Amino acid sequence: VKQRMFGNISLAKLERILREADRAHQEAIELTRTLVQFDTTNTGDPSSGNETQVARYLASYLRREGFSDILLVARARNRDNLIATLRGRSRTCGMLFLSHSDVVPAGDSKAWKVPPFQARLQGGRVFGRGVADMKGTLVAQLFALLVINRLKIPLKHSIRFICAADEEAGGRFGTGWLRARHPSLLKALLAFNEGGGECYKVDEHLYYGVPCAEKGRYEATLLFRGTGAHAAMPWRGNSAIGGAAEFVRRLAINPPKTTPLAGGFAGLRHVIGVFPSDLKSLEHALSRLGLTNEPLASEIRANTRMTITPTIIRGGTKSNSVPDLCSVICDARTLPHQGRSAVLNYLRMQIANLPAQIKVSTTADPTATKLSSQRSILINTALDAALGERVHLFPTLTVGYTDSRFARDLGTPVINFTPYVPGSSEGQENIHGPNESMRTQDLNFRVRFYAAAIGLWCSAL
Ligand SMILES: [Zn+2]
Repeated sequence: VKQRMFGNISLAKLERILREADRAHQEAIELTRTLVQFDTTNTGDPSSGNETQVARYLASYLRREGFSDILLVARARNRDNLIATLRGRSRTCGMLFLSHSDVVPAGDSKAWKVPPFQARLQGGRVFGRGVADMKGTLVAQLFALLVINRLKIPLKHSIRFICAADEEAGGRFGTGWLRARHPSLLKALLAFNEGGGECYKVDEHLYYGVPCAEKGRYEATLLFRGTGAHAAMPWRGNSAIGGAAEFVRRLAINPPKTTPLAGGFAGLRHVIGVFPSDLKSLEHALSRLGLTNEPLASEIRANTRMTITPTIIRGGTKSNSVPDLCSVICDARTLPHQGRSAVLNYLRMQIANLPAQIKVSTTADPTATKLSSQRSILINTALDAALGERVHLFPTLTVGYTDSRFARDLGTPVINFTPYVPGSSEGQENIHGPNESMRTQDLNFRVRFYAAAIGLWCSAL
């Protein structure tokens, strides 16, 4: 195997970094378990979250490690954000790690095999709400900084770690607030955040999807009007539910068009066997791929189209009245080149000749970072080293949205990358569901990957 190299780090130094990462494995597992035990459930209510517990714990953890540049800032009581910086010779932030300490509610406790905040270690996995999204990854990022600090690796630029509050409810107390009040903290030459990092095996080759963009998310409400009447003589009225039903039918038969993605997506041809710009073959190839590798087919399917999904329907008030109002709420996810207007245009076409009004509200506009060849080689080299095997990359999208958009807004290139050891599956983590878990080998792998990335990047800057 030919050694891929980035920057001018020596192999011996890279190996020293990886060894130090392995040495920290038990500590990383213990810290992950401790953080899961802090209940930082974010219900969306400003008084929930209580991320300060995690921020303070990490601050003292880092102080014991000799970190001096630690900042706790909060928009509201109990919603602290922690910012820790490993100083380099320049004031520029060379690499930024974004994370969040809040978690979504545990939901039905009966659906859990183990209590959600006990952080039980079982069968090579830590179980608990938030362990995969994203307390384990947060710890991996933090330990990457610790490894570099413990080895006293000289840094030209600074490395920063942000553990933010409130990601799960939109970031008004977390990264969104930092973006407004402390934007300089989010500026960096390169940033890593959560978002994906599944590895797929195709013809004996390993391919990592590297998410460097996020789909936009919109909520569309369509209000259908009819004429009320007694249901005993329904012809005297005009059912609003009828209009809504016709709309839902049109959505099903005219889904948004597939859009070929330019540039790096050409690399997908190795994975799926056709050029992704050839739409007819793409659909064909995806159906075929779906038979053997459903997760990959789904990922590519979501990467190549806008989706509009009706999720809530409300109509009628009385069982004996023809309804005069019916609303349909849709979840809309757009590709990076599409915004709110793309959603509006599509919906307008679907309601032609129907008595309906459309309202589209923006949850998050799409954002993107270019997977330049420099960034691609950095990630590839760090992955090869962390895994001890040669892998390939293809750029992909995150179908959800994260805090990355706030940093991208400021011009910071953000890669949403949390790589998995090949063979582990993101689906098994059950993010946001019951029995959420994370494999300890993924934790170790991420410490290795992030630490290697810092080492390589610093040697090149
Ligand atoms: Zn998350």
